[in-house]
Amino acid sequence: MTVLFDENGHVYFADERPEDRDVDGLLWERWEGAQTGELDWAAHHPARQREVMDGRPLCGVCKGDPDRDERGTLWLLHADENVQALVSFLGSVTTATPAVCISCARRALRACQELQRGFIALRVREAPVIGVRGTLYSPTEAPLANQVVRFGDVALHRVVARQLMRELINAELDETTLAAGFSTTVPAGVALPGPGPVWG
Ligand SMILES: [Zn+2]
Repeated sequence: MTVLFDENGHVYFADERPEDRDVDGLLWERWEGAQTGELDWAAHHPARQREVMDGRPLCGVCKGDPDRDERGTLWLLHADENVQALVSFLGSVTTATPAVCISCARRALRACQELQRGFIALRVREAPVIGVRGTLYSPTEAPLANQVVRFGDVALHRVVARQLMRELINAELDETTLAAGFSTTVPAGVALPGPGPVWG
């Protein structure tokens, strides 16, 4: 994909098609072909990720309703993706991972090696979509991969987006819902607040 700059300093594809942009004019990575084979739990196909991340949270696996209880909606994150969250459970976590329902969460924990290496389950009441992750281009320097750019940031015009990002506001650790039958690990060197966690 050849990425060029127009006279306003905005990125575009040399062979851009209308479907390369969303309704807000944001340019998206092009992933050709249908998903085949085993579900890759650690990666999220951009079109599918947008489908479950845009608007009301949906389960990232089955696209049904994610699990909700009085503490909020269920999120399952790789522990290493959000070590910050582990360190301070307070405050917000920004993630490209969609919400999940309980049966898909259990299935993911059995199937996904990345999750088996460490995960946290969170309950979230408020999870607005705040921006995108993608490749940030510059007219003068090498592109930067995996940059999170918030909506409203002028840098959005220089991004080829891959994923929508949600901010999980006041995320609360859920140590009970998925505890049965799983022994989970926390990456070495991560300090957990309070007494040791009970992961089940
Ligand atoms: Zn599901």
